Amino acid sequence: MIEERPARASRPILLTVDDDPAVSRAVARDLRRKYAEHYRIMRADSGREALEVIKEVVLRGEHVAVILADYRMPGMNGVDFLEQAMDLVPEARRALLTAYADTNAAIAAINVVDVDHYLLKPWEPPEEKLYPVVDELLATWQRERKPVDRKIKILGHPWSPASYAVRDFLARNLVPYRWVNVEDPDGQRLLAAAGADASQVPVVVTAGGAPLIQPTLTVLADAVGLPTTPTGDFYDVVIVGGGPAGLGAAVYAASEGLKTVIVERAAAGGQAGQSSRIENYLGFPDGVAGGQLTDRARRQALRLGAELLTAREVTALVPRGPAREVQFDDGSAIRAHAVVLATGVSYRELAATGASDLVGRGVYYGSAATQAAACKDQHVIIVGGANSAGQAAVFFARHAARVTIAVRGESLERSMSSYLIDQIAAIDNIDVRTQTTVSQCTGQDRLQCVTLVSSADGSQQVVDAAQLFIFIGAAPLTDWLPEGIVRDQAGFVVTGPDLVSAGERPPGWDLDRDPYLLETSIPGVFVAGDVRAQSVKRVASAVGEGALAVTLVHRYLAEQ
Ligand SMILES: Cc1cc2nc3c(=O)[nH]c(=O)nc-3n(C[C@H](O)[C@H](O)[C@H](O)COP(=O)(O)OP(=O)(O)OC[C@H]3O[C@@H](n4cnc5c(N)ncnc54)[C@H](O)[C@@H]3O)c2cc1C
Repeated sequence: MIEERPARASRPILLTVDDDPAVSRAVARDLRRKYAEHYRIMRADSGREALEVIKEVVLRGEHVAVILADYRMPGMNGVDFLEQAMDLVPEARRALLTAYADTNAAIAAINVVDVDHYLLKPWEPPEEKLYPVVDELLATWQRERKPVDRKIKILGHPWSPASYAVRDFLARNLVPYRWVNVEDPDGQRLLAAAGADASQVPVVVTAGGAPLIQPTLTVLADAVGLPTTPTGDFYDVVIVGGGPAGLGAAVYAASEGLKTVIVERAAAGGQAGQSSRIENYLGFPDGVAGGQLTDRARRQALRLGAELLTAREVTALVPRGPAREVQFDDGSAIRAHAVVLATGVSYRELAATGASDLVGRGVYYGSAATQAAACKDQHVIIVGGANSAGQAAVFFARHAARVTIAVRGESLERSMSSYLIDQIAAIDNIDVRTQTTVSQCTGQDRLQCVTLVSSADGSQQVVDAAQLFIFIGAAPLTDWLPEGIVRDQAGFVVTGPDLVSAGERPPGWDLDRDPYLLETSIPGVFVAGDVRAQSVKRVASAVGEGALAVTLVHRYLAEQ
């Protein structure tokens, strides 16, 4: 493929295809003379090559305005080529170049591939024979063209868990994308351009037009410009977890001159990033969307010099003499003088028959904002009675026909803030079912019915529901920590004075002082936020503990 001018990506493309290089050059030269200012002129020597060019153009979200294809080409003739090109760029206008002898065949082809024109060779003078035809083709194309779409595209199936995971990952990282259902014509066209089939979704097409077939989140993060690789191998402090506690620690550590890296397995913001509205964080009298608050914190941490690695999971922590080594799931590692654990909590699994099989197909843990549009006219069930469940109910009530909150307790009062209870009471399409649990989720490819059980009278009711969001308490995922780090029975990390019992310091503790307030049973490893035993489970306290942990890191470093 030959490009006839340096690329100015925004210009639509005029593509000529001819196996005779002299003819190909001549057509391109004539086109350039009149159209080069507003169009990119490209030429290919065969139908196959031209199809590859078109696939790239489609993936980049650019437009082919007009195709001029020679009729008589070896391998694939012009009609066969145009037939395939139409599947990829149906909006492109098409003309066939023919010799006089092929006129009849060309006319017959017009019916097969809906060619707009045929042009007889030679087309001299172009002012009379070529330009009027191309002008008309361009005028038609201009009338019908769609705007250029440069967004990242996710081609997927609405009820595929893997497609959901990719959408959720980009949404939580605030990376804009266009969702394309592979069952729609647009989706099929893009899938063909990516060289994939429907069994290979999700396919992500980057803004640059590169297709990624079933990418891992780390590959995807890299492709959309979220760093995944540390720039160094030794830091003053490694912060594990990018929720409010981790971001709070990073802001203070970086601003106080510590070489700092945050490692986040999913998306910076943690649970708070998924909150539709945080009403109780200091300084926001009208409340603030969790994603907005944590995005500001993320940018603040980066501006102050912290590094943030996304889509990287920490799987082990190993003391190496005075250094602390943090290992990743791919076997690589970084070391630091100190570590702050800010890994928060994750939702507990719902013990309902069939629920685990339908995760990502109508059953979701936490607030899956990407599903808002899919809730239109549907019945949505929220399981849980805490503030997070209440916020989700208020959010989804704006999109769904009906929202049911299923809560185990006798009332919401014990578990939810009164401002939320008042909001819920004022929304007509939310109903609250107390003393209710979910016993079963059913559906073929996706959730269709939910069985609700009343603990008051043991009655069961099967209700139609397309979406179920689970907010049933949380557990810290701390199994990967070394044995030397003391945890309580539920897995929360014990710190400071709670480690000292009857004057006895924790086993293996070899310093001549007690652990600091947020220090674990391994010196130099600190904890902040929800993962700490007895923590308050609030954004403000997580941020505060992040800041305090850094003060203690300084104190620890001064001892080294
Ligand atoms: C929907 C919802 C609404 C809420 N609303 C409010 C509210 O209105 N007001 C309020 O005060 N609180 C609210 N909360 C609670 C609040 O969000 C949490 O208390 C707070 O986010 C805790 O912060 P954290 O940094 O300790 O943990 P998290 O926010 O849980 O962040 C921990 C982070 O660590 C990452 N991580 C975990 N393990 C690893 C690992 N091994 N390697 C790398 N990364 C890892 C996780 O991916 C996560 O991003 C809400 C919570 C939810 C879920």
